[in-house]
Amino acid sequence: MVRPPTSILVWSPSGPLTAYPPACVAAAAAAPAPVAGAAAATCAGAAVAVAGPSADIGADVGADVGATTALAAPLPGFTVTGVGPFDAGAFSHPDITANTTAATATTTNAPPTTFAKVVTSILDPHPHDPLLQLCFMVYRIGARLMLHASPTLPARVRLTGARFWTADPMNPWAASVDIADGRITAVDAPPRPDLPTITLPATAVVTPGLIDAHIHLSLGGQTLNQLDLSTVHSRAEFESRIEHAARTLAPGRWLRAFGWNESHWGGERPTRAWLRGAGNTPCIAYRMDQHACVVNDAVLALIGAEPCPAGGEIVRDSTGAATGLLLEQAAWRLVNPRVPIPTVEDRRAALLATFQHCNSFGITAVGSMEYESDLRDTHEHLRTHTRAACTVRVIATILDREWPVDFAWGRAFANDELLAIAGWKSFIDGTLGSRTARMIAPYADDATNRGMLVEFAAEDPDRLRTWARTVIAHGFSPSVHAIGDEALRVALDAIAPEDHARIARFEHCQTMDDAELARMHGRIASMQPLHKADDARVAPARLGNDRMHTFFRFRDLLTAGARLAFGSDWPIVSCDPRLGIRAAVTGLDLDGTPCRTDQNLTVEECLRAYTSGAADALRAPALGRIAPGCHADFCVFTDDPFACHWADTLPRIMATIAAGAPVYGNIAP
Ligand SMILES: [Zn+2]
Repeated sequence: MVRPPTSILVWSPSGPLTAYPPACVAAAAAAPAPVAGAAAATCAGAAVAVAGPSADIGADVGADVGATTALAAPLPGFTVTGVGPFDAGAFSHPDITANTTAATATTTNAPPTTFAKVVTSILDPHPHDPLLQLCFMVYRIGARLMLHASPTLPARVRLTGARFWTADPMNPWAASVDIADGRITAVDAPPRPDLPTITLPATAVVTPGLIDAHIHLSLGGQTLNQLDLSTVHSRAEFESRIEHAARTLAPGRWLRAFGWNESHWGGERPTRAWLRGAGNTPCIAYRMDQHACVVNDAVLALIGAEPCPAGGEIVRDSTGAATGLLLEQAAWRLVNPRVPIPTVEDRRAALLATFQHCNSFGITAVGSMEYESDLRDTHEHLRTHTRAACTVRVIATILDREWPVDFAWGRAFANDELLAIAGWKSFIDGTLGSRTARMIAPYADDATNRGMLVEFAAEDPDRLRTWARTVIAHGFSPSVHAIGDEALRVALDAIAPEDHARIARFEHCQTMDDAELARMHGRIASMQPLHKADDARVAPARLGNDRMHTFFRFRDLLTAGARLAFGSDWPIVSCDPRLGIRAAVTGLDLDGTPCRTDQNLTVEECLRAYTSGAADALRAPALGRIAPGCHADFCVFTDDPFACHWADTLPRIMATIAAGAPVYGNIAP
């Protein structure tokens, strides 16, 4: 489906999206709109000029049309030479038709061949060709950045005018911060007439750059290219989305979808019949928690008679036939290895897009769950070749968990201030939503089911302990996924005795018996408040009212002396920390119903969990605080988050600053 012209996409059929500095997008965004029928127009900006070491940067850029009609400064070596019907032969996509208006752009710096296509129609908002969707994603983020394009700050500068929340409980507020070469050099220092000063609005509140302590950047980047089912509210809608996506899918690709949640439509779990619209195309749709997926007949045929792995389930109907629903290890081990993996260029481009996505929410550092292969192929590559575009510091936890684990690689890894390895991950159980979280007592809505232990915890009680001991002995932090109350008990039994430095991270901690609450003193609870808002809708059914006191014990954990770190688990849910703060401050679930409001936190407690608490959990002492020696990473709120009425509104973000440079928004007058 072709929409009326509202956008311009400069398209490169030749170069991969390897590196993508925001300046490219901003420059192209300043370009004039090609007018249908015009013979020639000149694009503006410095997209090609800033290309740097990679020759194909600057090719794929997007911009708003209609915002500008006048010709801006010409872009050296980049000229739009013709505007007319799109030459669908050069790039085939079902959404591009002969009615799509396009321009052919050529560059004088390259051979006189077609260099790029300028598509002047916005396509269906859900194009399913991954590359095309990626371009749109980059375009949308780029356009957003461009709207607030900010000049670089001087290397030495004083920020003042606003109120600065430091995350230091002894001294929480400051009136000025001095920065030099990406670091904070002084807080509330005496006047220095020689120092350039930027005066922020008096209503602004500056916090340390926000840190998401538990995110999946590489996975998130990839799901930005997939069919999003998170807003589906009925079987009919589910099926029509699948059918539409199948129609617009490039030949030879798998139809990949994610985000469904049966609590949106009354609890019936999808089956292969729901995917009929995909026809013979292999189709996989992951539940929003990634712990269950449904596949169609084409994928079931590929799996064949392979047995179900331990810790998983192939759900079957009354006749014994597979319904298409696969849980836990069945999803991960039977299907994932068969899904074609995206090219390394696609993965790098997607990762760069996630940095900008995070920056737009005030995030400057993350604790990211990553496979070793992604760290090698994408993260390290970007750090080496496009360092300036790495605007989020990544402190990785490695997801590879085949025993024995290759710690030698991790120890030899070149940690620096942009990319480092914090630890290794293991799963103890599944999720509440899928009823696979391991509970002390059976589920209230499934009397024979206590969920499951998975991986090391399922194999042998000593294996988890050996794993944790080995991770710690190599200087890393063991990070364990534990959602059920028994899973946390198993985790603490195995890990706490080995962890004298208390560096283990207990991820999720969604249900917790009183006995384990006391054992969490001094330990790291890495939690995701937006999961509370989501799971609160199923928790009373799963747990029963008599166990609701075990659910998301934020306040109890602080009282018990646990160390709270907040994150999102994106792409499971949004990584906007403001949505997490709303959930933890108000106790409202996603439907607006209050849940366990006795566990509500203050705004300050939440911000601490998203800054210094997260930094401590990731063992990054130069992050998460406004203090001399720390990195000059900041989130500048337009509106005071401490005065915000969180149930109705979110404070706006004026700018995000990483290493003393604005990476989102604008703070200069
Ligand atoms: Zn996760």
